[in-house]
Amino acid sequence: MEHFRETSGHKRRVLIVDDEMVNREILGNILSGKYDVSYAGDGQEALELIKGEKPGFSLVLLDLIMPRMDGFELIKLMRADNEMRSIPVIVMTAEADAEVKSINLGAADFITKPYDMPEVIIARCERIIEFSEDKTIISSAEKDNLTGLYSRDFFFEYIRQIEEFNNDTRMDAVVFNIDHFHLINEMYGRKTGDKVLKGLADILMNIFEDVAGIGCRAEADRYYVYCQHQYSYDNIMQKIQDNLPELSEKAKIRVRMGIYPNVEKDIEVEAWFDRAKVACDRIRGDYTKSMTMYSSELHEISRYHEELINEIDEAIENRDLIVFYQPKYGIQGDKPVLKSAEALIRWKHPRRGMISPGDFIPLFESNGLIQKLDNYTWEEVAHQIRRWREKYGRVIPVSVNVSRIDIYDPALEKKLMKLVEDCNLTTKDIMLEITESAYSDNQDTLVRVVENLRNRGFKIEMDDFGSGYSSLNMLTTIAIDVIKIDMKFIRNMLKDDKSLRMVKLIMDIAGFLEVPVVTEGVEEKAQVDKLREMGCDLIQGYYFSKPVPPEDFEKLIDKEMQG
Ligand code: C2E
Ligand code: CA
Ligand code: CA
Repeated sequence: MEHFRETSGHKRRVLIVDDEMVNREILGNILSGKYDVSYAGDGQEALELIKGEKPGFSLVLLDLIMPRMDGFELIKLMRADNEMRSIPVIVMTAEADAEVKSINLGAADFITKPYDMPEVIIARCERIIEFSEDKTIISSAEKDNLTGLYSRDFFFEYIRQIEEFNNDTRMDAVVFNIDHFHLINEMYGRKTGDKVLKGLADILMNIFEDVAGIGCRAEADRYYVYCQHQYSYDNIMQKIQDNLPELSEKAKIRVRMGIYPNVEKDIEVEAWFDRAKVACDRIRGDYTKSMTMYSSELHEISRYHEELINEIDEAIENRDLIVFYQPKYGIQGDKPVLKSAEALIRWKHPRRGMISPGDFIPLFESNGLIQKLDNYTWEEVAHQIRRWREKYGRVIPVSVNVSRIDIYDPALEKKLMKLVEDCNLTTKDIMLEITESAYSDNQDTLVRVVENLRNRGFKIEMDDFGSGYSSLNMLTTIAIDVIKIDMKFIRNMLKDDKSLRMVKLIMDIAGFLEVPVVTEGVEEKAQVDKLREMGCDLIQGYYFSKPVPPEDFEKLIDKEMQG
């Protein structure tokens, strides 16, 4: 490193480049008390000096209009050179226009002629040198080792410095996140994970270099970029996506981008990126979108989500989370028979009232809290099955929802077995609904987990069947016990022929595989009749009952028992 701290006793070297001798003299006089000053009369001469001198210059003070090689040209050359790039340049000028242009080219600051405030000039030189040295020192000590990007703290500091000189330029804050990165680590190992992280950093820096972007890795798989304002990010996103397949042969990498465009300069730098992050997190789990812009509505939603996240522990403790039960009726006999139930969670919030799972399940799936919530639900359900068995002398099997995150929990099987044992149940009493989209993530793990659970005697229902691409494919690789047709086909089956044909087709396949079919979302008598005619075994839906609390479910059991 060519920079030395003042403490080493010698003066730093600065180079004044100006074609007018008078100007050189005046400025030299101002600075020579503090610095070891050299002079050049044009860009060409300066270049030779900069290249030849050791130790190097700590600062170049540059006039813009000169013969032979002008200041603009020299800055350009310096910026393009690996060694010269680190020497800060202060431009000396009388025209406002040139200032902006030179700052855009990469000058650190400018001083206006004539030089009538020597203290100010010295102070500015000091600041620039100090900052540039800090930058060099920090960048070797505090760069992120893995990716070579700036550390988060330095990144923020750097932006503040840039902003000080460049406050009028419109800038954007951009946040990137890798989808399900922890799964990439778990499934393919840390080495692959690291390779992906490093690779993505390279891709981002390559692409954002064109728009004067700087970047940092803020957390594990979260990147921040600060760059010139873009009217559209379509091109940038396209370029990134084109490069993603290079990152790993095995894992399919998806990246999300959140943008806070044209940042408000009055608020803290950190807050810019909080906003971009809000946007980025908003589309987590939404496979139809890969980028989104920050808006004030998003801000509200994210505050709401934050509250829910903060309150989940308390809610579990206070038993504000309540399991509702929705019956499933067998319809092939003379009259419908109550066969089993699905457990569906509700949050009875002390201030907000009843919150539907649609509000918090996707949120908790995205941050892993779902495991906590599901473990709670399963425990409640196990105890409920036991209580009903004691009260009615019969078991009403209940299916619980198993999120895809649960599947990758190595303790899943043990947890479920313990519940069964603690409540003195059999594994047949708890059925597991796994949504179809979970089947596309990592088939090998899923196949293994499902097989183990089935060997233990648990019944597996494939939920939302027909909603994704993998339906048929999965039926051939995995043994399941029940197919649950996606609600949207039922909703439309009497209105549009396509949905009806789809229901028929699924029913045929299920018949061929000898797997029973459940239809959910059944609301009308006409649907029940049609489904019965087509050979559907079980029906769940508002036609029979909405999901209800245990007390109300008991009324359904009572009715059933009375015949
Ligand atoms: P799901 O597993 O597909 O559950 C079926 C959803 O359809 C439930 O919504 C249910 O109330 C609703 N439903 C049932 N019959 C009808 C009907 O006839 N018409 C209409 N329009 N809707 C009907 P809910 O309770 O809001 O749950 C939404 C989703 O939240 C569930 O979809 C499930 O994926 C998830 N979920 C609920 N509880 C849990 C849980 O404890 N753990 C996990 N991981 N997910 C849960
Ligand atoms: Ca379900
Ligand atoms: Ca479903």
